[in-house]
Amino acid sequence: MTKIAIVGAGLSGLSAAHLLKNCADITLFEKARSVSGRMSTRYADPYFFDHGAQYFTVRKKPFQDFIQPLLDQGIIERWNARYVKFKGNQIIERENWGDEEPRYVGIPGMNHVAKFLAKDLDVHINTKIVTLNHQGTWQLIDENYQQYSGFDWVICTTPSPQAVKLLPKSFTYHADVNATEMRACFSLMLGFEQNIPLEFEAAHVTESGISWISVNSHKPKRSDFFTLMVHSSQEYAEAHIEDDHEQVMLHLIAETSRIIGCDVGIAAYKTIHGWRYANNAKRDQIKPILLDHEHKLAACGDWCLGGRVEGAFNSAFNLASKMKESAL
Ligand SMILES: Cc1cc2nc3c(=O)[nH]c(=O)nc-3n(C[C@H](O)[C@H](O)[C@H](O)COP(=O)(O)OP(=O)(O)OC[C@H]3O[C@@H](n4cnc5c(N)ncnc54)[C@H](O)[C@@H]3O)c2cc1C
Repeated sequence: MTKIAIVGAGLSGLSAAHLLKNCADITLFEKARSVSGRMSTRYADPYFFDHGAQYFTVRKKPFQDFIQPLLDQGIIERWNARYVKFKGNQIIERENWGDEEPRYVGIPGMNHVAKFLAKDLDVHINTKIVTLNHQGTWQLIDENYQQYSGFDWVICTTPSPQAVKLLPKSFTYHADVNATEMRACFSLMLGFEQNIPLEFEAAHVTESGISWISVNSHKPKRSDFFTLMVHSSQEYAEAHIEDDHEQVMLHLIAETSRIIGCDVGIAAYKTIHGWRYANNAKRDQIKPILLDHEHKLAACGDWCLGGRVEGAFNSAFNLASKMKESAL
């Protein structure tokens, strides 16, 4: 059977593995200590935070079919939040997501989608791949010089700036990967001893260094402890990603307090996470399928198809379909 190495166990890597597992022998390599990538959940007992993807939409049939078993088994549920849009500190739009297009979340955390998908797969966690060598077949080498050999194909599903370092320059689409820039984001996590009364559970924010505020604890099957999840704007994060995180946290706390009109500095738990590669710079940038038959290399990920969770799946789906069509 054809042997495929997949670098990265976020949604695109795990989806590609599922879509190809009946026609190939798949091994995944993930540098983090767990699967899920940017669909991660942070546990800080008694608080839980989805500090990457907040929710996802399901618009295309292949993704609907793919997630149906997860819906059936309660791994995914709808999040019926009261949604508002802020312009500065003024609310300019309101929606009830219970009446709108479904927004889905993992249960009891976003990372459970990936954990579920990884269950029957061969995943090497804590394994950062740093080199790809071709000697008849592909050999992968991790940062501890451990070698993994004998792969017919390698699929790279890391964010594009990491993919461009890993994939050899001979990869046909190297310049396309190199041209895809990604932007940073800060995630501010706040856990409280008491609920804060708000008019919303999900909010997009414009004209601020903040782009998103949500009541994470309102999502279905979360713990009862009240939590807020705040994301910076891309522009703010790009300008401050190298700054002292404590200062960034204080700034985002002050800005959140100003927007919602309540001092969130009283939180019992506060922490911040900086994502160097959160989203691609241009969301509408559509890439071709990055499949190089000559070198038996491929790449996919949200950055190939406009970003976001569904983009990550669609990119993996398009690649896997093309690989199956050409009998690998
Ligand atoms: C703060 C934030 C908020 C977001 N909000 C939303 C949202 O509300 N809705 C939405 O749809 N999307 C959202 N997104 C985007 C969404 O999370 C991504 O589109 C999606 O999770 C990308 O999946 P992926 O598999 O393509 O990439 P990733 O999840 O990044 O997976 C790539 C994996 O590769 C691993 N890796 C990298 N380099 C190596 C290496 N050398 N060796 C081994 N492993 C490696 C990484 O650790 C990672 O696990 C958000 C993202 C962030 C960061």
